[in-house]
Amino acid sequence: MTSPPKGSPTYVSRALAASGLVPFEAKILLGHVLRRNLAWLAAHGDEPMTAREAKVFDALARRRRDGEPIAYLTGRREFYGLDLEVTPDVLIPRPETELLVELALVRIDADEHAEILDLGSGSGAIALAIASERPNSSVLGVDLSVAAVALARRNASRLNLGNVAFLESDWFSAVPKKRYDAIVANPPYVAAGDAHLGEGDLRFEPPTALASGADGLTAIRSIITGAAAYLAPRAWLLIEHGYDQADAVQAMLRDARFSDVQSRRDLAGIPRTALGRI
Ligand code: GLN
Repeated sequence: MTSPPKGSPTYVSRALAASGLVPFEAKILLGHVLRRNLAWLAAHGDEPMTAREAKVFDALARRRRDGEPIAYLTGRREFYGLDLEVTPDVLIPRPETELLVELALVRIDADEHAEILDLGSGSGAIALAIASERPNSSVLGVDLSVAAVALARRNASRLNLGNVAFLESDWFSAVPKKRYDAIVANPPYVAAGDAHLGEGDLRFEPPTALASGADGLTAIRSIITGAAAYLAPRAWLLIEHGYDQADAVQAMLRDARFSDVQSRRDLAGIPRTALGRI
């Protein structure tokens, strides 16, 4: 972006136009810098910015042009109506993962107390969404990453959700030995050599949250193998998986003696979540 002559302010509309970003992304980043929403920006194109604001925006726009995900630049992402803090320590919550939340919610009785386990909870997105929609339930989210657990706890306390807790655990290793009413997981499922890992947002996300063994199924295998001992009778296990993994995941569920095994498609029509009950 070309700087205006010294002493003359940068105006909102000029900063947006000169950012080199698509308008929507420029507005999100400038709104973040100015702590204003999109409606304010639309109505205040002729508002001057301070030199400091212009400099901060410039730096963020440059990082975005270099490919950093918007969510890491603003430190925020919306998921299932919740405003979440996100950092490069966690996967950025995806819209398709809302399918997993919806499938879980219809299987959790809103009037009863239910115990729900979320494996690989990352930012806490799934656990927090379930806790928020099912206040009578208790949700436990576990993650191997200390930083992810700390972040998920911050999200829970900022959202005032008292019915969710987070714990460091390598899948089931530190999970209390009890029977949960549902287990959900969005584990890493990309094949280790997959070219997508070198593209787009994925380049900036934690590899441990994305990739899982040569076929991408190592984490899902551990979860399915371990889950039976932690599920109440007839309780569901719901797992998000890769675009081409539905058959493999269903086969693993059947091998582990799950019944009612099925897959559901996301809004893009891609089989995205497999489920079964014990
Ligand atoms: N859905 C992510 C992607 O490929 C991967 C997330 C995951 O492995 N859980 O963009």
